[in-house]
Order: sequence, then structure tokens, then C-alpha cells
Amino acid sequence: MGERFIYLLFRENLDEVDTEAIRLQVEEEFLLPTRVQKIKIDLRPYFDANRRQFHSTMILKGLLKKVPPKAEKALLIVDVDLFIPILTFVFGEAQLGGKVGIVSLARLRQEFYSLPPNLALLHRRLIKEIKHELGHTFGLIHCSQRECVMSVAHNVLAVDQKGMGLCRGCKDFLLKALKR
Ligand SMILES: [Zn+2]
Ligand SMILES: [Zn+2]
Repeated sequence: MGERFIYLLFRENLDEVDTEAIRLQVEEEFLLPTRVQKIKIDLRPYFDANRRQFHSTMILKGLLKKVPPKAEKALLIVDVDLFIPILTFVFGEAQLGGKVGIVSLARLRQEFYSLPPNLALLHRRLIKEIKHELGHTFGLIHCSQRECVMSVAHNVLAVDQKGMGLCRGCKDFLLKALKR
């Protein structure tokens, strides 16, 4: 077995985020070497004109074709508003036990709620949501521990109420998954 990497694929227009800070947090949590890449991806095919949002499940399907060869997991970070048909929006989505996930900055920005920008808060929210979706790709399901990043958050306040990392139980599950 060759070396396994987590790839964080930032859509190329995302200049405001500190990708290195995020990379370090991911590496520390998931214990796999983590790489950052800027990615060019045309999201227009995934735009729903009625909802004026982008279909995240379809983006994930397209992303599978663009995953770097050495990627154990690949997480795409975009700034467009995402949806799945049964929900009004999603912060992100991932394949449970699969290879790919996606997170959007759109509703993590204070500006979305007509509040002044807060870059530090944006980073905390983004790290939580990246860890959440990556957790799903390692087979983690939603957690009942409110402080755990794997707990469900249907709004940004719930994201803010979570802690920054996996709870003990989820971490144990991850460690077992990494050994497989
Ligand atoms: Zn989830
Ligand atoms: Zn947990």
C-alpha cells in the first residue's frame, strides 16, 4: 500500500482563507498527510436555475473524475450555495465511507446574515464543516454529543455551538477506520 493523502481542493477563487492553517488542523485530526490544491472546476452544469443553487450530490459525482491519483479522500471547498433536493440548503455533503466530500463557504460567512465579516469566525466554521464532511468519508455518522463536530447542524448557530474536533467516541471510530 502506498502513502495515503487527504486532499483539500480549494476552488481557485477562494483567496480569503488561510489554507495552510486549515490543512494543519485537518492533518492533526485525521492523522493522514494532507495536501492543499487549488482546483479549476466548472460548476455551471450543477446549477439549478429555479432554486438558484448548486446541486451538491451532482458536484460530488463530477469531482470523482478529478480526484488526484494519490488521494485517499478529497474534499472540495467552494463558495456557491449548495442544496440537495430534500433540503433548502446544505453547508456540505459527503459520501459516507466514500472518497469525496464538499463544503461551501456561502452560508458560513457572516455577510450572508447581513452581519459584518469575521474572518476568524469564518475559519472556525469552515474547519468544523470540513472535519464533519471528512468524518463522513471515513464512515462516521452523526453524533449525539453536541460539542462534537459530527453532530448535526442545520443552521450557523448550531455550527458555532459545536467544538472544533471529534469527540472521544468518534475519534476511536476514526482510529479503527484508519487501520483498515
Ligand atoms: Zn453530516
Ligand atoms: Zn462524536
